[in-house]
Amino acid sequence: MRKGLIFIISGPAGSGKGTVVNIIRSRTKSVGVSVSATTRDPRPGETDGVSYHFITREKFEELLRTGEIVEHTEYCSNLYGTMRSEVERITGEGLDVILEIEVEGAMQVKKLIGDRVVTVMLAAPGAAELERRLRGRGTETEESVRRRLTRAKDELRAAGRYDYFVTNETGRAKECAELVMKIMEAEHNRSSRRAEYVSEYIDGLDAILK
Ligand code: 5GP
Repeated sequence: MRKGLIFIISGPAGSGKGTVVNIIRSRTKSVGVSVSATTRDPRPGETDGVSYHFITREKFEELLRTGEIVEHTEYCSNLYGTMRSEVERITGEGLDVILEIEVEGAMQVKKLIGDRVVTVMLAAPGAAELERRLRGRGTETEESVRRRLTRAKDELRAAGRYDYFVTNETGRAKECAELVMKIMEAEHNRSSRRAEYVSEYIDGLDAILK
């Protein structure tokens, strides 16, 4: 059985990563998406336990103290974190894990887990389109849009620390998801990750040649 990898998908707000992750989730049986905990309020259409585990700051701090949250960050005045129980649930089923998290958390996970982590940054095709997408949501205040654009700039500065940088062209989320799925498949076929298989292969040949 192949070992699961952890795929981190980051991207400034408005990069469309939620849509891309949902397409991947619906198309691939071998991945599970970790549902994060957050202290921010649900947006219209978001469901507790599906989009996020929506919890209070007190509860979040308690989960941090007990080690239930494995990485976290403060993003635009709200806390977000990955729950140990989510990662264990998914890896326990032998699946790949998708973490849809921002840059700081991504780097924490990379440091903690190392070579089983693959990082992908998604981005809207250019600054003007990113602004249009954020305003088009209609759920954010002017201040929140500006904060998210400023944060987007900081996140893009970290792009060089990611393994992949993928543009999510407008209206082409399906193609973007397909590209990310190809990256995922290719990463499983890295020779370093096939070493055990190759050595069993050689043992098999040895047995035949004996
Ligand atoms: P949003 O409020 O738009 O849902 O998410 C804001 C940012 O928080 C996004 O960049 C999203 O990827 C990130 N995020 C969501 N969950 C987590 C998490 O568990 N950990 C970290 N580090 N970032 C997260």
